Amino acid sequence: MTGRQVIRKVLDMGGLEDVASPHELFQHVAAQCAGHEEFRRLLDTCRPEQRRRAYDTLVPHLRFVAKPLDVYIAENQNEAERKQLPTIAADGMLVPFRRAEILSDEFAAQEAIRKSLARLRMTVVCRKCTKQAEFFGDRKADCIAEARSAGWAYDETMATGGETCPECLDFKN
Ligand SMILES: [Zn+2]
Repeated sequence: MTGRQVIRKVLDMGGLEDVASPHELFQHVAAQCAGHEEFRRLLDTCRPEQRRRAYDTLVPHLRFVAKPLDVYIAENQNEAERKQLPTIAADGMLVPFRRAEILSDEFAAQEAIRKSLARLRMTVVCRKCTKQAEFFGDRKADCIAEARSAGWAYDETMATGGETCPECLDFKN
């Protein structure tokens, strides 16, 4: 398993609080961190209120001497601001991906992680009812695949804005 898959697994289990036997899992997660860069990213995938616990739990298992938690958090913030992860709208326009919105505490950890691990966000607008939806993925093709599996369809005959939501597809044109 890659580090990313391990993190996914941890968070699919409901977050750090809900891991039944965390010790072995944390050992495994820590072993996936080859250096500061990966450890920093791992901390970035934790909910803000979990970072201190994640840090304290993982540090003893790391194969290198960790920097203070504050340093990693500052580095993550700098990187987020510097990179402004790109997202794409349905018309192919790139728009800045504001990380704050996905790391908000109101989101369930799993949702936040899924989105924060995705490199792209695609916003689609239904051409009939103007309902909007967002889909996430590492490549544009992944975003589109997510939209398709969620029931959105695309009218190839339209030059732009041919997306139709699942509800509207149930009605005859
Ligand atoms: Zn619709």
